[in-house]
Amino acid sequence: MRRLSIYFLIDVSESMIGDPIENVRNGMASIIKELRADPYALETVWVSAIVFAGQPLTVAPLQELISFYPPTIPVGSGTSLSSGLGHLMFELRKNFIKTTREQKGDWKPIVFLFTDGVPTDSPADVRAVTAEWKRNWQKTANLVAVSMGATDNRILGELTENVLYFNNTGQDSYKRFFKWVTDSIKTSSLSVENNSTGFELAKLNDTLTKIDLSKQDSKPVVDDNFVTIIAKCQNTKQPYLIKYRKFVFEDEHGDIKMKYRLVGAFKVDQTYFDLSDETACEMKVNTEILDGFPACPCCGNQYGFAYDGTCGKVHCIGSEKISVCPWCGNKAQYSAGGGDFDISRTRG
Ligand SMILES: [Zn+2]
Ligand SMILES: [Zn+2]
Repeated sequence: MRRLSIYFLIDVSESMIGDPIENVRNGMASIIKELRADPYALETVWVSAIVFAGQPLTVAPLQELISFYPPTIPVGSGTSLSSGLGHLMFELRKNFIKTTREQKGDWKPIVFLFTDGVPTDSPADVRAVTAEWKRNWQKTANLVAVSMGATDNRILGELTENVLYFNNTGQDSYKRFFKWVTDSIKTSSLSVENNSTGFELAKLNDTLTKIDLSKQDSKPVVDDNFVTIIAKCQNTKQPYLIKYRKFVFEDEHGDIKMKYRLVGAFKVDQTYFDLSDETACEMKVNTEILDGFPACPCCGNQYGFAYDGTCGKVHCIGSEKISVCPWCGNKAQYSAGGGDFDISRTRG
């Protein structure tokens, strides 16, 4: 049986923390569940999932649909498209069975790239990996790039003509989007059955818009919709992310102002550091523009946003007299208030 390999290449940068990542996790599970009930897909589809932030990671190696178990999707810091794509090509080289005189090889693999941010790696790295994709894989694989936020569509357009924008308008959007992905895999596996191309996307529903690449402005948009800050629990030493979303408002003088409102604090595991860029981020955000502070999601301490001036990092505090920074071990006393300060934000 010739295989139709499906690769999910998922951007797991921090702006995905919270609902988006939950939706992707659920989406993966529903894709697999539905495909297993489809006889054509069951016969031919193999699946792999790769995530990338600052670093890439194969969270599910290529395997038959029947033995595929939806993986946990971690998050990390940064959006290194070059390392994500580089890792994808490494997996493709390793897994792809070529057609030879003796054997019929794989159908063209289909890659679904989900990304929600502008690459944080150097333009030279992105160019190099894009060139490699064009040279070795553009004709051998089918790539569908789905933009889920402020992406650089010029770069995506270099990789493929299939660049789609996901309109997240409400509760149902993710469900309907993943239904489209499922349907596209089904139509492709049916096309395999009919000895056709093995690549046939389902009809777009209203959660997806095809991006007209000829009309793209050459300036990438900077993703400033979210601010995320990495923190550690003083009690459990576990890391967590504090996420804020931008909002614009009119102040009492009628001036337009911008602030970031708290979305929530979310536990992450040590994989966060494996997936993150090693270079420290220089971007600063002043707490003055942050609206709302979370409790600690790990231990329930009421204040999850204490700033340690020694290492410049954030941790939770409780009613203890002396707090110990879980990042650097510095001992300090905290009192209420304390004014505004600059803290490092992560790369998003
Ligand atoms: Zn805590
Ligand atoms: Zn510290």
